[in-house]
Amino acid sequence: MRKLASIILFLVLVSNSFGQSKNSPLPISHLTGDFYVYKTFHDYKGTLISANALYLVTDKGVVLFDAPWDETQFQPLLDSIKAKHNKEVIMLFATHSHDDRAGGFDFYRKKGIKTYSIKLTDDILKKEKKPRAAFIIPNDTTFTVGQHTFEVYYPGKGHASDNIVAWFAKEKVLYGACFIKSADAKDLGYLGDSDVKEWKKSIKKVQSKFKNPIYIIPGHDDWTNTESLNHTLKLVDEYLAQKPSGKK
Ligand SMILES: [Zn+2]
Repeated sequence: MRKLASIILFLVLVSNSFGQSKNSPLPISHLTGDFYVYKTFHDYKGTLISANALYLVTDKGVVLFDAPWDETQFQPLLDSIKAKHNKEVIMLFATHSHDDRAGGFDFYRKKGIKTYSIKLTDDILKKEKKPRAAFIIPNDTTFTVGQHTFEVYYPGKGHASDNIVAWFAKEKVLYGACFIKSADAKDLGYLGDSDVKEWKKSIKKVQSKFKNPIYIIPGHDDWTNTESLNHTLKLVDEYLAQKPSGKK
């Protein structure tokens, strides 16, 4: 009987571990041209939540915009990129200090990848004694890597006090990360480090600076609906209408 119980336990453990590997994959979707969106999953208070991130394939190598939220995917992401494109990852930008964005700084830096953040992000990581980027960039910086040019821009406070977006003018791709909520989102999500009143102004800045995006990538959930930025503004407005003080 005891033996049977331990066999059953063994089978349960085995099927669970299979289940887990099935639940924590690394889906990579082609967006357009040299752009790919990848997703990782993280257990947040008992619920598996996905996080979107972006990478760009250039002649010089691959540029990551945000690290996987799931740290067990740090190396598999490099391996998948190598297998898919036969290229090395050469740069990583984190769009704010939270773990679903900047969590990979230490790992990727040790792999010889150049890591970047703005000073606001660096100040937070330093204060929280977390791994920091090797390079600190100004709040509005244009990079040319191989055949691609992109702008990394701090629009002001929003989801976080240090959130940045990336804009690819030629392809009209706006990578918003957590600054932008998915068109499916029912609320603004985690607001522990947010300034909702400023978020509204920051969204307006992004909308007037980066015109007619064709692709908009939010930090979580569906990214195929480009109403996401307008939807974020709507959620912000609703929130402010409900709490006129605006702060949190
Ligand atoms: Zn965040």
